[in-house]
Amino acid sequence: MRSIVWFRGKDLRVADHGPLAEAAASGEVIPLFVLDPFFFAPERARELPHRMQFLLESLTALEANLAHLGSRLLVVSGRSVEVVPRLAMLWKVDRLLAHRWVEPFGRERDRRVGEALDREGITFRLFEGETLLPPGSVRNGQGGMFRVFTPFGRAAGVRLDLAPALPAPRALPALPEGLAVETAPIPTMADLGLATNPQLQVGGEKAARSRLKAFVSGPMADYGTDRDRMDRSGTSRLSADLKFGTLSVRTIWQAAAAAGMGESGWRYLNELLWREFCHHLLWEWPELLEQPFRLGFADFPWRKDEADWQAWIEGRTGYPVVDAAARQLLAEGFIHNRARMVAASFLTKHLLLDYRQGEAHYLHWLTDGDWAQNNSGWQWSAGCGCDAQPWFRIFNPTSQGKKFDPEGAYVKRWVPELADCPAAFIHEPWNMPKAERNRIDYPEPIVEHALARQRFLAVAKGHLGRETA
Ligand SMILES: Cc1cc2nc3c(=O)[nH]c(=O)nc-3n(C[C@H](O)[C@H](O)[C@H](O)COP(=O)(O)OP(=O)(O)OC[C@H]3O[C@@H](n4cnc5c(N)ncnc54)[C@H](O)[C@@H]3O)c2cc1C
Repeated sequence: MRSIVWFRGKDLRVADHGPLAEAAASGEVIPLFVLDPFFFAPERARELPHRMQFLLESLTALEANLAHLGSRLLVVSGRSVEVVPRLAMLWKVDRLLAHRWVEPFGRERDRRVGEALDREGITFRLFEGETLLPPGSVRNGQGGMFRVFTPFGRAAGVRLDLAPALPAPRALPALPEGLAVETAPIPTMADLGLATNPQLQVGGEKAARSRLKAFVSGPMADYGTDRDRMDRSGTSRLSADLKFGTLSVRTIWQAAAAAGMGESGWRYLNELLWREFCHHLLWEWPELLEQPFRLGFADFPWRKDEADWQAWIEGRTGYPVVDAAARQLLAEGFIHNRARMVAASFLTKHLLLDYRQGEAHYLHWLTDGDWAQNNSGWQWSAGCGCDAQPWFRIFNPTSQGKKFDPEGAYVKRWVPELADCPAAFIHEPWNMPKAERNRIDYPEPIVEHALARQRFLAVAKGHLGRETA
């Protein structure tokens, strides 16, 4: 049996890799990665610099791991829908094995590859693994997809009966002799016209394992209380590993579950179920990447305001947490979840700017930028997504800051202009005594909270009409 194992950027590991284990157990193995211009054309790569850096590092680590096991990763350039069927025929393989993607464009790619292989009598088998449970498999009493998280989480929890994560193969067979192919080197950031950002997390399976170990033996014990604290390193920082599959979600789930830790452990597993929910939502409703879940928001009168938009992306709104989030994103390709929620709520509700603008900006700069989770986070924050809460919840950036960054350490780290601001005023510098305020070069708020709140409520009420009554 000769199999291609097609690595596709969301499963850059050798441990707990179903397609690799299956291929290794049954004969010849050809590990393949395609540099598809959909992501790797320089103009496309420039739209995802941080994700690209993490991916290239992880891909390089995968290449080394496969070589260490006795095989070799073949890296080939071209459009997947053309290259993969062509190589499968040329190499006379029996099977193409890969992990399923939930995104509509990934599904379309797989449909086309599957069709081409079908004509040649070659099997294309998709493995689950991006999620804990197969997308589409968690249903409500009426057989449909859940529209809010809590009952979804409960139903998914009941269904979860995970087999143990698969170990990495101890060895792999060498590539079959005489495979005709023009391989390409893994491109460098410079090849793609991108600068390397030394502040990003390091990619690769080994670094991911260290992060998991460090979290489970450290911050996880206090996750229940610390996860919302922007000033603490209380979360796992495994989001990019989950995104690029340097660890499988099953591996993380099982490590966290084995560690126990009561309420904190449970809260952590619950976040993994949130991730699960986002992926299942996108599987069920692929159109979510284009339109709001609550259709009442479809033609919502979002404002267009370039000055406000620039202030938000550059971190000059005059609201310290919002500005810290904006700057953290550009600097290290990450933002604390609480700060993401506050910043996204501010963009959509205080500034009345389209959530899709923010969604695209986050996808551009986040290292963990994930279509399903980012879309869900933005729709949730804008009030148009799957949420048990009504759309009129509006975060107050000042009180959120006081509660989740009480001494202002998070703000001071990312907004150094406020380094000397006393803790009492760190989340409302506009209230400082004038003499002190004048010494600080930090903007006044671009909107006043109470007025912005009223404006959003009035516009939303007018637009959504009876739905919101
Ligand atoms: C506007 C907005 C945009 C977001 N965009 C993304 C994105 O592009 N990619 C992404 O992975 N997450 C996104 N999130 C969710 C969340 O902010 C990040 O997953 C989290 O901050 C990552 O840090 P961590 O790994 O330390 O999280 P932890 O607290 O350690 O959580 C563990 C894992 O659970 C998952 N998770 C945690 N919180 C959420 C959540 N609210 N929704 C879905 N999954 C969650 C993540 O995979 C995370 O790695 C977004 C949230 C918002 C509000």
